[in-house]
Amino acid sequence: MKNTDLIAIAEEYGAPVYVYNADKIISQFNRLSNAFSDVPNLKLNYAAKALSNISVLRLMNSLGSGLDTVSIQEVQLGLLAGFAPEDIIYTPNGVSLEEIEEATQLGVRINIDNLSILEQFGTKHPHVPVCIRINPHVMAGGNSKISVGHIDSKFGISIHQIPHLLRIVELTKMNINGIHMHTGSDILDIDVFLYASEILFETARNFTDLEFIDFGSGFKVPYKEGDIQTNIEELGQKLGGRFKEFCKEYGRDLTLAFEPGKFLVSEAGSFLARVNVVKQTTSTVFASVDSGFNHFIRPMLYGASHEIVNISNPEGRERYYSVVGYICETDTFANNRRISEITEGDLLCFRNAGAYCFTMASNYNSRYRPAEVLWYKGHSHLIRARETFEDIVRNQVDHSGLFQPRADQVIAK
Ligand SMILES: *Cc1c(COP(=O)(O)O)cnc(C)c1O
Repeated sequence: MKNTDLIAIAEEYGAPVYVYNADKIISQFNRLSNAFSDVPNLKLNYAAKALSNISVLRLMNSLGSGLDTVSIQEVQLGLLAGFAPEDIIYTPNGVSLEEIEEATQLGVRINIDNLSILEQFGTKHPHVPVCIRINPHVMAGGNSKISVGHIDSKFGISIHQIPHLLRIVELTKMNINGIHMHTGSDILDIDVFLYASEILFETARNFTDLEFIDFGSGFKVPYKEGDIQTNIEELGQKLGGRFKEFCKEYGRDLTLAFEPGKFLVSEAGSFLARVNVVKQTTSTVFASVDSGFNHFIRPMLYGASHEIVNISNPEGRERYYSVVGYICETDTFANNRRISEITEGDLLCFRNAGAYCFTMASNYNSRYRPAEVLWYKGHSHLIRARETFEDIVRNQVDHSGLFQPRADQVIAK
């Protein structure tokens, strides 16, 4: 997308606004598919939590993607977006047996990640096939909050508990149709994948009725120039080859599944915010935008570094800025960043704003969540309207009769 396209969108729909380039989503999907084109049965299940707008889900469905979901609401969104139940996998952590049963009722695939629920579910529903999420105890991930496969992680069933798992399966006579792992986001090194994959293959040998092996996700995308990214093509060659070998050994062509979120949508997203104030202090120059971590929390939550470009003055002389939000507590998007000269009213574009940005937005400070726009074949489509004051008060129950304002507004001493 050109800067002029983005500026036109901010003018038409107002800022701040999220913009997603459908063409980029499609090319990322194709790139991943092509990397594994040697594998006869490949299934990409888009991780809905990265960006869950129904129009994006519909786009994924049109590409032949499945859907990875982590809550019953995401399952419902997927069904609403037109996914067939069997193309949705439900991979929750720490949810109730009732919620898993609800997902079963909706006909989606079930992934269970703890022995307690596995035993209860298998006892009550021995005929419902389930996938099991294994924790291979591989240290991976770019940040401790998104590193989920290590020894202390709450996710998955430890490989050291396989004997117990097998006893549950044998006693309940349940059917295990898939083996799954998801070791974390932002994996830098494909050797991590290959190493953990061997553990999955080892585990898979214990089950005779598998249909698929799901290798999760964690593909790293570049956030700034020079960033290392997962070499998808090399991974496709190495893991794809190893997978085919395993299928031969296993005696059946299994499906190789992935659940990419960030890889498919991160780079497709731009977040546009307008500069309200340029404030010179004794030590820095702040550019305050009409947004904050209520709309875009990754820098504050994960220390994530998103490239910021002044699209109103892209060729201007570069200066150092601290880009901050309007939330009433520390709310920093970037510190001492070289950005082309900013004037109040300029539009800043935050790159890589497709994944875990809008879906993590909140109404903190009673602000509206921004609009979302999908750019497809040279045209913009509003896919979510900016909120209004109605949205802020919608579910509040106003007991206006409980309290009355003091008539005199003076506190008696
Ligand atoms: C979050 C998540 C993903 C997606 O991870 P990305 O890093 O966005 O690709 C995949 N699978 C599961 C189970 C997840 O929780």
